[in-house]
Amino acid sequence: MKAVISFVIRYIPRKYLQLVSHFFLRVLAIFYTGSKVQCNVCDSQFRKFLPYGRKARENALCPKCLALERHRLMWLFLQKETNFFTAPLKVLHIAPELCFIERMQALPNLEYITGDIESPLATVKMDVHQIPFENNSFDVVFCNHVMEHVDDDILACKEINRVLKPNGWGIIQSPIYDLKETIEDKSITDPRERERLFGQRDHVRKYGKDYASRLSQSGLLVEENLFVQQLDPQLVIQHALPPQEIIFYCKKGL
Ligand SMILES: [Zn+2]
Repeated sequence: MKAVISFVIRYIPRKYLQLVSHFFLRVLAIFYTGSKVQCNVCDSQFRKFLPYGRKARENALCPKCLALERHRLMWLFLQKETNFFTAPLKVLHIAPELCFIERMQALPNLEYITGDIESPLATVKMDVHQIPFENNSFDVVFCNHVMEHVDDDILACKEINRVLKPNGWGIIQSPIYDLKETIEDKSITDPRERERLFGQRDHVRKYGKDYASRLSQSGLLVEENLFVQQLDPQLVIQHALPPQEIIFYCKKGL
C-alpha cells in the first residue's frame, strides 16, 4: 500500500490528485476524529493530520480540505497580516490550490479569477509567461509552487509585476533548498535526471537562498517574511504549520 501511495504521489501531479482524492479522504477522515490539531483553512479538528510527501511528512495533510502545512500558514498570514478578507480586491490566482478555491470564491469582497496552463481547476487557460490581462489589472496575485516548473521564472515574475496594480501585492512560494544559489541547467530534460538534480520529475530548477533576489530581477519587490516565527509556538503546533517557511510577499515594483 505504501508503495502504491508513493508511486501515485511521485508520478501524478497534485492538481489531478486533488480532483479524485476528495471522497477517499472524507472516508479516511473518520479515522482521524479528534481535537488535537486544527485546520484553520476549513475550521475542522482532528486527532492528527495525514502524512504527505514522497518522504512522507507526518501530520501534514488536512483530511477534509487537503490543505498542507504551507496552505494553513498562508491562510493565517492573509487573515492576520493583509486586507484580503475585507477590502474590495481583484485577485488572480495562478495554479489555484483546491483548498483555497471555494473559500476565496465565496468571499464577497473579491473579484476572484483563477488561471492555469493545464489545471482543470482553473477558469482561464493561461501561460504565466504571457498573462492574458492588461497592465495594472489586479490588486493581488497568488502564484505558488509554479516557478520551479516554468522555463523562464524571471519572465513569469515580470508578467506578474506587469498585471499588478500600483500598490498591488502577491505571494509567490516555491520549494527552497538549503543551497547558497539556485541550481538550473536548461539542457537537462530527462525526467529522471531532473528528479535527481532538481527534486522532482517536472522541476526545471532547484531554488536556493537567492530565491528572493532572483525573483526581484523581474522588477517585483520581494520581501522575505518570517511571519511563522512571530506566532505563538502552541499555535504553530496546533495548526501544524511549517516552522521554517518564509513567505515571499511581493509588491509591484517598477
Ligand atoms: Zn482543512
